[in-house]
Amino acid sequence: MTLPLPMRPGHVHAYLLDGADGWTVVDTGVGIPEASELWREELERAGGRVARVFVTHFHPDHVGAAADLHELTGAPVFQGSLDYAQCELVWGNPTWSERLVDWFRLHGAPDDVTTELVAQASVYRPFIRYQHDPVLVEAGEALDGWELVAAAGHADGQLCLLKDGVLVAADHLLGRITPTVGLWPASRPDPLGDYLAALERTIELAPRIALPGHEALIEDPVRRARELQEHHRLRLEETVAALGPEPRTGYELSFPLFGDDLKPAARRFAIAETLSHAERLVRLGAAARNEADGVVTYTAT
Ligand SMILES: [Zn+2]
Repeated sequence: MTLPLPMRPGHVHAYLLDGADGWTVVDTGVGIPEASELWREELERAGGRVARVFVTHFHPDHVGAAADLHELTGAPVFQGSLDYAQCELVWGNPTWSERLVDWFRLHGAPDDVTTELVAQASVYRPFIRYQHDPVLVEAGEALDGWELVAAAGHADGQLCLLKDGVLVAADHLLGRITPTVGLWPASRPDPLGDYLAALERTIELAPRIALPGHEALIEDPVRRARELQEHHRLRLEETVAALGPEPRTGYELSFPLFGDDLKPAARRFAIAETLSHAERLVRLGAAARNEADGVVTYTAT
């Protein structure tokens, strides 16, 4: 099912997995006012009953209508335990924007820019109607015969589903878009390291097809995983080139890496993605992280 989004990329895919006791709905779209009506129509067209709803990760376009779907169908909602903890931390926390403000300051964004970056970040809040107290699940467990596979990086606690060579990939693999991999407050310390390891695991699992959260089916998931590894290898090289002996903040580094001309939403992701690469380089010994006077900077080693 392809659901409309009031934000880029304009759509998100949810999936209905057929099972003995009914459909497992994977992901929900955003909780826009018309979400319940959209789902009612889509489910009527599909026929059958919804046995459960599964949320792959807590980003607005995947978790946003979980409560609406639960109300509509009565089906239990399942979500990974780490992912649900982060969902609560971000969407259930009225002080989250203050935390973001502190975090952008820590990484060198000037105050006027920080205000813009964070103001824009709360646009989605009204559309996020996640399910409180879902059934918590872990990677390695099974859900109606589908294995839950950890796919950290794009979101720390993201879980994919795998059965008979079919990977429901959510935003772990996308066909043309490169999934964002960013360092955020309270995220795991090395999200790019997590992501590269998760791509390696995808290559080992060798699914024959992947169903992504956006855009077309991925007919060669192993090849796509390798392309994404190569993309980040090149981006790490570019990040090394952007570093020098002078300390530079994540905010400053985001300009040579992502260009000067970005709207606040894009700059927010650019900074987070720059930081995930800088932190990977620190672990590889190619960069050093310094913190002084409440600001984090990186230098080449
Ligand atoms: Zn996502």
